[in-house]
Amino acid sequence: MNRALVILLAMPSVLFAQPASQPALKAPPVITPGALPTSAPSDAVIYFDGTSLDNWATRDGKPAGWKCDSKAGGAMTGVPKTGDVVSKKTFGSAQIHVEFMEPVTNGEGQDRGNSGVYIHGRYEVQVLDSYKSETYPDGQCGAVYKQYVPLVNACRPPGEWQTYDIIFHAAKLEGGKRTAPARLTVVHNGVLIQDNVELQGPTGGAIGQEETATGPLLLQEHGHEVKYRNIWVRPL
Ligand code: MG
Repeated sequence: MNRALVILLAMPSVLFAQPASQPALKAPPVITPGALPTSAPSDAVIYFDGTSLDNWATRDGKPAGWKCDSKAGGAMTGVPKTGDVVSKKTFGSAQIHVEFMEPVTNGEGQDRGNSGVYIHGRYEVQVLDSYKSETYPDGQCGAVYKQYVPLVNACRPPGEWQTYDIIFHAAKLEGGKRTAPARLTVVHNGVLIQDNVELQGPTGGAIGQEETATGPLLLQEHGHEVKYRNIWVRPL
């Protein structure tokens, strides 16, 4: 037998084991959601009703640079290079409703209708066109960015309105230390895609690395013209 082969066969199998990295993530199943809900319930705090951006600002408190078109269905549209928009109102634990529409583009992967709904400005529920479009599973639409893959892919095609209904429980904090993690449930187009997941901490692009008892809603401007409408919050 060839000497090199003999040495190779004699080597302990641990040398051939995979490095201790994360297992490859599998893309979730693709499903078709049912018809759209919904208008705001009577006890909701309205964050955006389609008439103006008065309740929103840039990260550094300047007037929001996004476009608000009160005629075309009362939507706001991300304007590239104007930055994220941050709600002036804040909340602790809450039920949050957001509607969004992906633009029709030729982009691929993360370069396809990228935006994001950041709860407390810290935890991103990814907004992306993942309808018949692939990217890394923990970065696709409905992922808690780089933390949790959605249970299924419930995306509608670009150009159609989609909904996020989010139940958020803020992290419990005592003396500046976290005693319980924030928790998140996400229903996308009426379908459960995140089931009470424990948030590991703020995601990339957060407005702060410290977790807080209350915070704003932040909509990410990632260079793409993603639309939003009908945003409301019910504090819990
Ligand atoms: Mg994003």
